[in-house]
Amino acid sequence: MKFASELYGCDVFDLSTMKSQLSSATFSKLEETIKDGSKLDESIANEVASAMKNWAIEKGATHYTHWFQPLTGITAEKHDGFISYNGEGNGLMEFSGKALIQGEPDASSFPSGGLRSTFEARGYTAWDPTSYAFIKDKTLCIPTAFCSYGGEALDKKTPLLRSMDALNKQSLRILRLLGNSEVKKVTPMVGPEQEYFLIDKDLYSRRKDLIYTGRTLFGSLPPKGQELEDHYFGSIKPKVQNFMNDLNEQLWKLGIPAKTEHNEVAPGQHELAPIYESSNIATDHNQLTMEMMQKVAEKHDMVCLFHEKPFDGVNGSGKHNNWSITTDSGINLLSPGKTPSENEQFLLFLTAVLKAVDDYQDLIRVGVASAGNDHRLGASEAPPAIVSVYLGSELAEVLEAIKEDTAYESVQRTYMKLGVRSLPTFQRDTTDRNRTSPVAFTGNKFEFRMLGSSDSTACLNVMLNSAVADTLRIFADELEGEKDIKKGLHELIRREVKAHERIVFNGNGYDESWVEEAERRGLLNLKTTPDCIPYLIAEKNIAMLTGLKVYSESELRSRYAIQMENYCKTIMIEAKTMSSLIMKSFLPSIDRYIDSLCDAAGKRKEILGEKEFSYEKDLIKKLSELNEQMYKGTGELDQMIEDVDGVDIEKDAKLIKTAVLDKMTELRKACDQAEKLCAKEYWPMPDYGDLLFSID
Ligand code: ADP
Ligand code: MG
Repeated sequence: MKFASELYGCDVFDLSTMKSQLSSATFSKLEETIKDGSKLDESIANEVASAMKNWAIEKGATHYTHWFQPLTGITAEKHDGFISYNGEGNGLMEFSGKALIQGEPDASSFPSGGLRSTFEARGYTAWDPTSYAFIKDKTLCIPTAFCSYGGEALDKKTPLLRSMDALNKQSLRILRLLGNSEVKKVTPMVGPEQEYFLIDKDLYSRRKDLIYTGRTLFGSLPPKGQELEDHYFGSIKPKVQNFMNDLNEQLWKLGIPAKTEHNEVAPGQHELAPIYESSNIATDHNQLTMEMMQKVAEKHDMVCLFHEKPFDGVNGSGKHNNWSITTDSGINLLSPGKTPSENEQFLLFLTAVLKAVDDYQDLIRVGVASAGNDHRLGASEAPPAIVSVYLGSELAEVLEAIKEDTAYESVQRTYMKLGVRSLPTFQRDTTDRNRTSPVAFTGNKFEFRMLGSSDSTACLNVMLNSAVADTLRIFADELEGEKDIKKGLHELIRREVKAHERIVFNGNGYDESWVEEAERRGLLNLKTTPDCIPYLIAEKNIAMLTGLKVYSESELRSRYAIQMENYCKTIMIEAKTMSSLIMKSFLPSIDRYIDSLCDAAGKRKEILGEKEFSYEKDLIKKLSELNEQMYKGTGELDQMIEDVDGVDIEKDAKLIKTAVLDKMTELRKACDQAEKLCAKEYWPMPDYGDLLFSID
């Protein structure tokens, strides 16, 4: 393996490559757009396109594509060859500035939630110069935004970029008020920790439920699961280590700063964390990371599972979204500073996050909503569906002191009264790293732990950036009218800390009593996706998101429709898979086993005479009863599948989140009982023991 420094970014058209390939005038214009967010000067497009093309061809690329993130949850690309003809039949390698800036994929099959009718199927992709182009599979990939003919966003990148702009604008207003005239740009930074499972490819190919739905719909727990906690941070098996090495190499080539890797709680479960980047680039990179993980796993005869709950009774997978706000001068605004004025700045931004998370709990929940994630949230393995903030005891005491306007005395004997003395440096609380909190302050960033492993980081970060931007807007409006900024600032912080006390919870989020306590505090507990999606189009949320120009109202309504539809479709596929597996696989297999038991019992009787043996009889009876239950239950499930008509989406979602899921749980129970009783050679698919302990 080559050293990371040799490989790093070798397939990326990054700043250093640009510098060596572009004229200095063009390079500085492009650098300005990338670094400061100034508008792209389109006159440089031809030169950039030509340099990109030459560089890519030298690296062996033959095609280019506008790489984008439609609302399907995965990335999309349509490859075009660089080749074109000059009329005399000679192949020319061509790539114009126009082709770089704008593309026109046939968009009719991407979800638009009614934003685009099929007769106006055209969708446009637009170059995002702030995310570097890269080479993948001999193709130059150009990160792009994707929108309709009418300019409405049909993707995840566009609103993310808009939310970053909003946060930048409002943060700058605040910084100017605090007397900072130097900072030019403020950027939200994200480090997503990606969890995943690896299983054997051959075993995977024999599990139709995994193939169709990404999760096991059946399977009883093996004798050994995660109870010994011997997998978490355990030594990495050679096959997995080879996969990780190969993966790192691929990621580094793409300029993705993969850094930390370790085993997770469940057998077969692992995690990868990159170094944090701007939320736009982190989102692009996380999508690419997931794609690479699947490809590299395949090469190593394994399959990488991203579903939030691939195995029942075993820890599911999430994607912790570490989030902070940084200035172009490298200051983290969520880092407590050393001087009183840095303290004030920190406390103001901290207060803004508290208020934003409280006021927009619903949108944060929407930002992590999916059928898969519903299995995780609130199941005592991931944070509950209730949004709250963990600050740790020390910071909580500081806020308490601010609220009461008393002096704060910390264990380290550091004294602080707002604006007077220094804040202590908050060590990450090593004794109480509260894993049960959905939003935890971890020293200089917030860790959002609700996001599911298969989800894009885009939606959650759009909500975070927007909610905080809007809060800062309100703060800036108020402070701009103040004669005495310092006084106004203190009053504002004190008032808002008091007003949003209820969102702070430092206790155990898995505890039943928290659910009741949260209800008393008036916090939302939105357990399922259909419970929370309607909040996307709640009046106050439309007002906030359209006010900041992150979404238009029609974009929000279309996303509401797409997310509801997606939920229904996902569970309908699961229900149909379940029904088909029971009828085509389980019932006939169990019958064959029953037959063999009948045979054995008959033969035994011939040899031993009339003597009764209860073993076969008992099993035959139990299995026959379970078969009967499954057959009947499947008929009922089939009826429900028919009742879901796809016309009234709210009605469908309601039926699905209750009756359909309940029926599936009931059927699974019967099936898992039968699995326990059935001889292994008759069971039609690999079991949990096979799957979870398949890699050595
Ligand atoms: P953990 O112990 O939770 O794994 P780490 O310190 O390893 O915590 O960080 C996890 C992730 O948080 C990494 O992706 C890291 O790059 C990211 N991270 C660290 N600092 C910041 C920050 N200031 N803003 C955003 N993400 C950050
Ligand atoms: Mg973490």
